[in-house]
Amino acid sequence: MKKIFTLALTVAAVSGAFAQAFPSKPITLVVPFAAGGPTDLVARQLAEAMRKPMGGATIVVENAAGAGGTIGATKVARAAADGHTLLVWHIGMAATTSLYRKQAFKPLEDFEYLGLINDVPMTLLGSPKLPANTYRDFENHIRANGGKLNLAHAGLGSASHLCGLMWQSAVNLDKSMTTIAYRGTGPAMNDLIGGQVDVMCDQTTNTTSQIEAGRVKAFAVTTAKPLSGHPLLKHYPSLQEMGLKGFDLTIWHGLYAPKGTPAAITQKLNEALLAALKDPEFIKKQAALGAVVVADKRNTPAGHKTFVAGEITKLKAAIDAAGQFAD
Ligand code: ASP
Repeated sequence: MKKIFTLALTVAAVSGAFAQAFPSKPITLVVPFAAGGPTDLVARQLAEAMRKPMGGATIVVENAAGAGGTIGATKVARAAADGHTLLVWHIGMAATTSLYRKQAFKPLEDFEYLGLINDVPMTLLGSPKLPANTYRDFENHIRANGGKLNLAHAGLGSASHLCGLMWQSAVNLDKSMTTIAYRGTGPAMNDLIGGQVDVMCDQTTNTTSQIEAGRVKAFAVTTAKPLSGHPLLKHYPSLQEMGLKGFDLTIWHGLYAPKGTPAAITQKLNEALLAALKDPEFIKKQAALGAVVVADKRNTPAGHKTFVAGEITKLKAAIDAAGQFAD
């Protein structure tokens, strides 16, 4: 008994010491997509908001892009479990298991869940060269020309890929568009603006400023209801309103550490995350881009993990149903 007690004390002391010494060097937030895209932007704003609650720690963003986010996620799953390498990833954490035959990590086993960050709507966009100006015209144009048009996305299992897949399935296109995979929707957006690609569905954290500047055409939002609280995005109908029954796609981002990161460190990171999520400046910046900062039990580690487990099941059903458009 005494031995167990001593052991318990030692574990507590060691874990306390870990927390005190943490962070002992800059913290890296790995973004599994290219710089200048929607997830990159969320991570950079979060890094800024977490700095103060982390005692002024240096938090840097590193882009490890490719394969719909799975390259960056694998990198973090294999990183030292000391809290200095973290992952900011979105719905792909739950979607990619249903899309990749071989995956180098298991979403529910290889990470410590630190909490959910935000919910982000998506917008269905077209290049400025598309002749359509309303959703109805857009849908008709794609129906008539589907086989000749290109859809840009950020790789299999990215949010833009999922949205394109679900939309093509929901409207039951005869001919799917040709998909073009980028390392992120940041670079894809440049090609959409330039008209090298025709269509993209992307998160509002990347699209709001481009829509506002008139560089792309927006046709609809992917949430069940229109975004009536947003000064710009309120002008676009939801896909449900346009007759796509049950269409409801919201992208969420979460924060993760490698499995085995000491509890004292994950607790410190969760506390810093919670403080960042209450930072009025962060909330304001996110709201301006149509994103809603999470303020419910999904920002606890347990709540986050339960939510992702539910999303894995839900997305598997949606992906299976849209199977004929999977590439
Ligand atoms: N998050 C985007 C997507 O999944 C890609 C990106 O952040 O660049 O489509």
